[in-house]
Amino acid sequence: MTEKCIMPGSTEYSNVRYPGLERHEIFFGRNRKRSIEDGLVVFLTPEKHRGFNGAHGSGSDGIAFNKKLKQLGQRVAMEYYGWTVEDFRKRYGKSYL
Ligand SMILES: [Zn+2]
Repeated sequence: MTEKCIMPGSTEYSNVRYPGLERHEIFFGRNRKRSIEDGLVVFLTPEKHRGFNGAHGSGSDGIAFNKKLKQLGQRVAMEYYGWTVEDFRKRYGKSYL
C-alpha cells in the first residue's frame, strides 16, 4: 500500500514508508485527516516522531522541527495544488508562513 506523500526528499525525514518508521501527519490535531488526504505526511523514526526532540516533542529541537515541517508543508501544498496563502488558510485554518 502506498501512502500519498507530496513532500520532497530530505535528510530529516523519509517521504516513503520503510519498516520501523511511523507516519507523521504534518498538520496533526484537527487537520489530521486533511493532512493525510493532501499527502502532507512524513515518515519518521519513533525517536524523531515521539521523542523529546521529535516532531511532537517539547524539546527546543522538537518544536523547531515541527515548525519547519509545517512551513515546508504549507509551501509544498501551495505549489502542488496551486493554492494561495488564503486558499491554504481556508483549508487548514491558519497560515504557518
Ligand atoms: Zn505525528
